[in-house]
Amino acid sequence: MIIFDNAADMRAWCREQHRAGKTIGFVPTMGALHEGHLSLMRAAAGGNDLAVASIFVNPTQFAPHEDFNKYPRTFDQDVAMCASAGVVAVYAPTARTMYAEDYSTFVTVGGVSEGLCGGSRPHFFRGVAAVVTKLFNAVEADHAYFGQKDAQQCAVIKRMVRDLDMAVQIVEMPIVREADGLAMSSRNRYLNAEERARALCLSRSLFAALDLMERGERDAETVKSAVREGMREVKIDYVELVDAETMRPVERVERPVLLAVAALLESARLIDNIKFNPAGHGGSQQ
Ligand code: AMP
Repeated sequence: MIIFDNAADMRAWCREQHRAGKTIGFVPTMGALHEGHLSLMRAAAGGNDLAVASIFVNPTQFAPHEDFNKYPRTFDQDVAMCASAGVVAVYAPTARTMYAEDYSTFVTVGGVSEGLCGGSRPHFFRGVAAVVTKLFNAVEADHAYFGQKDAQQCAVIKRMVRDLDMAVQIVEMPIVREADGLAMSSRNRYLNAEERARALCLSRSLFAALDLMERGERDAETVKSAVREGMREVKIDYVELVDAETMRPVERVERPVLLAVAALLESARLIDNIKFNPAGHGGSQQ
């Protein structure tokens, strides 16, 4: 495994690979890796000559009251997991090399970043868009892989790449779940047994709502209230039914939609979602 800690060396390596005719697939992560991350890495390794992952807990996407300091950091184990998934190089910059003391540049992606997590975490997407831009400038990849787990983040990155003519192609991968349905997340390790049991109501409510839509329900309010009802055991941050591309709320399910939820448990904020396409009728089970 080759580990790079600065953008210049990382970029030089990518250029050398490209000169040798190799394609590069890239998976940005914040570490504390699990099967969800590994599914992205396997796709990157399978769809390109070389797979690169980054591990960087990005301070600029956390608000002061959020969990930046306690975010799990398991670097050695992460590197071994990257290798097992076919990654050949890891980009692991330090916050100091990423952010000069007078760093002052952010990337604002309008429209799709509003509402949902953008509503609850107003600082979040400008930090994500800026760090992903910086990562794309270091890891010059042909394809970059993101999870539907963070569906709004995918929409923001796709919009940014399109609007700013970035050369990389974005690939969105399905949500990997635990056997009982809980969407895998690095933050699941914050949960105690009692919270872990209650956290199941997110995926359970989403799948029940998917069933409702598959059986023909098209009224957004009816679908959302069924989800809210199913999530009574947790404090709801949001339950939203939005157009899957624009992230704007819909009143009726007439185009591909994203049903997205966020909940606050005592020790973690969790998000989950499903997509549903009324045209194909079959909703994705992700
Ligand atoms: P993170 O380390 O949480 O920033 O996530 C890095 C990437 O892994 C993002 O593109 C996430 O959407 C993706 N990811 C996280 N959890 C999952 C999951 N359960 N299934 C699929 N992808 C995931």
